[in-house]
Amino acid sequence: MGKRNKLIQEQNHDPYFLKAKCSDPAVCEKCGVVFHHGTFEWKETPPANAEYFLCPACKRIESQYEGGIIVLEGEFLYKHKKEILNIIKNTETNERKYRPLERIFDVVDNDRRIAIKTTYEHIARRIGEAVHDACKGELNFHYPEGEKYIRVHWQRND
Ligand SMILES: [Zn+2]
Repeated sequence: MGKRNKLIQEQNHDPYFLKAKCSDPAVCEKCGVVFHHGTFEWKETPPANAEYFLCPACKRIESQYEGGIIVLEGEFLYKHKKEILNIIKNTETNERKYRPLERIFDVVDNDRRIAIKTTYEHIARRIGEAVHDACKGELNFHYPEGEKYIRVHWQRND
């Protein structure tokens, strides 16, 4: 709890969005995302004068600092795991196109319970909604530490 609070405080000072300090244009040395004209985007070819940097999503992944966690539970999950994992994968692929920093970086599968960590809160919410739209069940959102961190819970027991 103390660690998390400290991280939240740091987050308010924006350590993962170093736009002011970040060269523009710049290209992430890890994932290749391009920072140009103040926004992040995927580009086939980065601008010729781009400098290398580590993007905010890769920084979060490196420090295992999630912006969202999704917990999926229940018998329905166990019986339809392949379909549900496909929904999650497709949702991530679609979100990443337009929000390059929104990513899944950790999946822990324990049969009837899966926990997924994401870099930011938006994609966690979208994944919860996509699973709920396709599979019904019960969906809940919690923002235990303010709006910048989400805990998504989905469950279906039949
Ligand atoms: Zn990156």
